[in-house]
Amino acid sequence: MTDCLFCRIVAGELPATVVRETDTTLAFRDINPKAEVHVLVVTKEHYVDIATLATADRELTSDLMETVAVVAESEGLLADGFRTIFNTGLYGGQEVDHVHAHVLGGEPVGPMVCK
Ligand code: AMP
Repeated sequence: MTDCLFCRIVAGELPATVVRETDTTLAFRDINPKAEVHVLVVTKEHYVDIATLATADRELTSDLMETVAVVAESEGLLADGFRTIFNTGLYGGQEVDHVHAHVLGGEPVGPMVCK
């Protein structure tokens, strides 16, 4: 059994509020939402981060971004806009080492970076 949190969600071993599933991706609500809408989009296959994924598998990277777009549409975010974030590594503040896009919206989400 893997100790990767998001692999365990993908495997159905841990609960999640799933909003979209494709053959290669899963989108579910963040457990600690930072905006009215806060969805995480992950690849079902484990990659550590977006840099690793994007250099290893273009098609899967495209699948991930397509799911971001479809979720933004289904969550009603297209009219007013939304933010997509890939936290990467230590300085990026990444806490879960399984590539994931944060999709945030439903209200103004504030300045791009707070220091
Ligand atoms: P990051 O800091 O970019 O690695 O983001 C990890 C995100 O995963 C955080 O926003 C957490 O709130 C979220 N998270 C952690 N555990 C869970 C969980 N079991 N279900 C949904 N989201 C989670």
